[in-house]
Amino acid sequence: MSIPVSTLTIPQIQDGLRNKQFSAVELAEAALHFAGEENPKTNAYLHLCHERALKQAHRVDEQLAQGADPGPLAGVPVAVKDVIVTKGVRTTCASRLLEHYIPPYDATAIQRLEAAGGVILGKTNCDEFAMGSSNENSAFGPVRNPVALDRVPGGSSGGSAAVVAQGTAVVSLGSDTGGSVRQPASFCGVVGVTPTYGRVSRYGLVAFASSLDHIGPFGRTVEDTATLLEVIAGRDPMDSTSADAPVPSYKAAMTGDLRGLRIGIPKEYFAGLAAETGNVIHAAIDKLRALGCEIQDVSMPNTEHAISTYYIICTAEASSNLARYDGVRYTTRSQEPGGLIDMYRNSRGEGFGPECKRRIMLGTYVLSHGYYDAYYLKAQRVRNLITQDFRKAFEQVDALVTPVSPFPAFKLGEKTADPLQMYLSDIYTITGSLAGIPCMSVPCGNTPDGLPVGMQILTRHFDEAGMFRVAHAFEQASR
Ligand code: GLN
Repeated sequence: MSIPVSTLTIPQIQDGLRNKQFSAVELAEAALHFAGEENPKTNAYLHLCHERALKQAHRVDEQLAQGADPGPLAGVPVAVKDVIVTKGVRTTCASRLLEHYIPPYDATAIQRLEAAGGVILGKTNCDEFAMGSSNENSAFGPVRNPVALDRVPGGSSGGSAAVVAQGTAVVSLGSDTGGSVRQPASFCGVVGVTPTYGRVSRYGLVAFASSLDHIGPFGRTVEDTATLLEVIAGRDPMDSTSADAPVPSYKAAMTGDLRGLRIGIPKEYFAGLAAETGNVIHAAIDKLRALGCEIQDVSMPNTEHAISTYYIICTAEASSNLARYDGVRYTTRSQEPGGLIDMYRNSRGEGFGPECKRRIMLGTYVLSHGYYDAYYLKAQRVRNLITQDFRKAFEQVDALVTPVSPFPAFKLGEKTADPLQMYLSDIYTITGSLAGIPCMSVPCGNTPDGLPVGMQILTRHFDEAGMFRVAHAFEQASR
């Protein structure tokens, strides 16, 4: 029997295993085969890890044979962004610098998803060190959007969004610092979630901007995405910023009932929106109204400062985090090392791509003596104001709804010449990252050209359940 790997959901996999329609090993073999065949179209996987996948699938089959419960992700094929470390499996961050790096340990999210029965198929392409919005900053070539192969899948987690859209994984993990899960989810027509900062341990997530970095899941359905989040969420002693907050059952929140829920529409998120995207979002808001939501206008006056604030804070933190790649530890060393200083300089000069260099320079500048107060400290203050905008809005409403990106997936090469244009892709996602609140992209329709559009839902800190409630009801009503 051929297994329809490209359309399976987690509940279908659980049924299939229970009813012995297929074994976890058969499913893993079919998924690996399919991924190997399809990948040349998109370049979404950087490498597949056959051995690890089949070993884990065997373990799941053994547990099932013994009548044990392998966990909520039993046999589920998962892909992982190549910025999350996997023991014994190359983790490159899509950088020449880490081309040969084999981590000696697993990230906490990886341990948890395998403990729950998940089967890791491989590591996905992304922008180098997660810096970018189109996946074109990868040292190993761009990813193509499976919906339209001449277009970008978004970034930086472009590979993780593309594999789920393409059907070469059922769910995947990405990372989001300023929009890198939500924007590619929106461009590829899948669900992508950025949980509350601290909800998921960052242990083993290669650091870009530590105060903004999150691990977040992708799926084809809201329920699958929530299931993966539930597995990886929760306090971890290995990450002091991980929150000691209970993780509720997200499925219990998916009642399908939105009557009386107050949804805020921040007007600042609709200026500069392309009409083709705006029309789809407005139709989605009408649908929420029809589901019984009370739609209210709200204002978030500090939104206009978000991009500049983010690019000061994230570059400052990146310049510090990337200092560890010195040609001595982790990384590829220049073939022409010279003396110590030249060895650092040549290894970093050859290893980092242009976007990383741009950010290291900008970040070093904003942290330098004499500019620290004017830029970095000021940006931290504005970050607080943006967070307060959200606090105030959530006194009036239960959730906010906005577009994810001002435009749908653009053509490969269209924005590479102008970094500032590229930075504008994240204008609607960066605020939620700066505030550290849960936010997600849920597919809400297509442009007349058939390009997917995502709707962003944002809720109060730790209220992922409330966010999933809205997303799930919306998804059901859109079927
Ligand atoms: N596109 C944004 C950037 O380039 C966000 C990246 C991310 O979330 N990792 O920084």
